[in-house]
Amino acid sequence: MEHDVIVIGSGAAGLTAALALAEKCRVLVLAKGTLASGSTAWAQGGIAAVLDAGDTFEDHVRDTMVAGAGLNRRETVEFVIERAPHVIDRLVELGVPFNTDGETLHLTREGGHSHRRIVHVNDATGWAVHAALLKAAEEHPNITLRAGQTCIDLITGRHEQRYSGSGRVWGVYALDEASGKVEAHVGRATVLATGGAGRVYQFSTAPRGATGDGIAMAWRAGARVGNMEMMQFHPTCLYNLEVKNFLITEAVRGEGGRLINPRTGKRFMEFYDAERMELAPRDVVARAIDSEIKKYGLDYVHLDISHMPADFVRGHFPTICEKLLELGIDMTRQPIPVVPAQHYTCGGVMIDLDGRTDLPGLYAAGECTESGLHGANRLASNSLLECFVFGEAAARHILANWDGFAEPPRVRPWDESRVTNSDEEVVIKQNWTEIRRFMWNYVGIVRTTKRLERAQHRIALLFGEIDDYYGQFRVTTDLIELRNLLHSADLIVRSALRRHESRGLHFTLDYPQTRSVAKDTILVP
Ligand SMILES: Cc1cc2nc3c(=O)[nH]c(=O)nc-3n(C[C@H](O)[C@H](O)[C@H](O)COP(=O)(O)OP(=O)(O)OC[C@H]3O[C@@H](n4cnc5c(N)ncnc54)[C@H](O)[C@@H]3O)c2cc1C
Repeated sequence: MEHDVIVIGSGAAGLTAALALAEKCRVLVLAKGTLASGSTAWAQGGIAAVLDAGDTFEDHVRDTMVAGAGLNRRETVEFVIERAPHVIDRLVELGVPFNTDGETLHLTREGGHSHRRIVHVNDATGWAVHAALLKAAEEHPNITLRAGQTCIDLITGRHEQRYSGSGRVWGVYALDEASGKVEAHVGRATVLATGGAGRVYQFSTAPRGATGDGIAMAWRAGARVGNMEMMQFHPTCLYNLEVKNFLITEAVRGEGGRLINPRTGKRFMEFYDAERMELAPRDVVARAIDSEIKKYGLDYVHLDISHMPADFVRGHFPTICEKLLELGIDMTRQPIPVVPAQHYTCGGVMIDLDGRTDLPGLYAAGECTESGLHGANRLASNSLLECFVFGEAAARHILANWDGFAEPPRVRPWDESRVTNSDEEVVIKQNWTEIRRFMWNYVGIVRTTKRLERAQHRIALLFGEIDDYYGQFRVTTDLIELRNLLHSADLIVRSALRRHESRGLHFTLDYPQTRSVAKDTILVP
């Protein structure tokens, strides 16, 4: 099929890029699973934008850089924040039903923000935003959406029929999940919008498909990745043995929720950040909860908003109230048991302000990137914003330079010589579980060099096993994801070992100090 641009991913970043590109090009959007299976539809809190009269861009920039512990690139932070009001206007045009206060948009507040500046749709913002973007994409004649396509590897000069060996990206090989066939999709440009790598950890709020595929694909193709050690752990994920990844939004603390040690019955944030208490940035709150859990041998701590009027709680958090009621917890009267869980991948494929990666023809946007916005820690509700800004920036750059993009060459079809189906699915399952468990235990909220080295040792063993397996058998989505999960784990551990300080989300007992100069950890293939 003829397409001008291939977009990999149908979340906020991918659909934003596709809609902007479709003004002039024919766009193919590929997604594994369903079109709504990324993190975007799961976002609860909202989107940060300076819209209040008392708020300023400078304040939003400062809050972002304080959360990011100075590792952010100021140029990127300003670029994104100054575009936020335009992003919100555009989403309103697309029909996103943001909550309002009379004539103006209702703004809520979240940890680390010095003002109310979070635009939201109740507590299910991502779902509403994704629905609006998807509807617009489905209705656009220049956009073809294909679900059930697990992309395997980027097509570069190494796959041209007349081998050039160059790093120029021409598209991607993708497994059609229904037929089991692998197709080559080529275009003049490719946009990577594959989301994060959260599922590398045993406890994560991210969806099942967040296996770092795009980061791993770009790395294998020769692109640099940055700051992969900066993994954000959300402080408050519901503790429930069956529902393993239900997030309790930051806004519950923003609207007065208190963290309480169930053993002592007392609020504990005053021992960790007496000034900001529950509204301290996520890394501070997550470490405080982790410390209380370890110190008192707890399974969880309590998040309590039952002192607020029941109507207020139900009005602000209808989705969470309903979900918890199904599980027998009435948050208007009872505290919620919570634990920290991996939540956001701050690092990723290095991009510039036009969404360009190191590889000609390859752009990237959203959670799979390292744009310089988040630094050592993401400020709440800045990530959806990043998706819209860079999805659009990448599209604009492609369109502005369209004449410079050559027609794709003929490329080699996927090597179908591996026709044997594996008869040992258990190996894949076992390796998935192993990676996720040692990453949680050794590369989690509090790190040491010894623990990181233990993880690295296991990764080296698994590389041998998984490469062997990958080389022998017909590819499946599980196997493709396992390989990417391992590459992502490797990038995280190598980056963490390189950072000889504690900064933002990277906290190591061996280097507790923060160095005077903030430096990115950049891995070069
Ligand atoms: C529970 C939760 C709550 C959150 N709340 C907020 C919030 O309130 N505000 C905020 O700003 N951020 C929030 N975030 C973060 C935010 O949702 C994400 O950072 C953002 O949605 C990422 O969008 P994306 O387009 O980069 O990727 P995603 O939305 O994750 O989409 C990734 C896409 O890539 C596709 N894909 C991945 N691998 C492949 C492959 N190999 N082949 C083909 N397709 C592939 C997926 O199918 C999917 O379509 C939250 C995240 C979670 C998990």
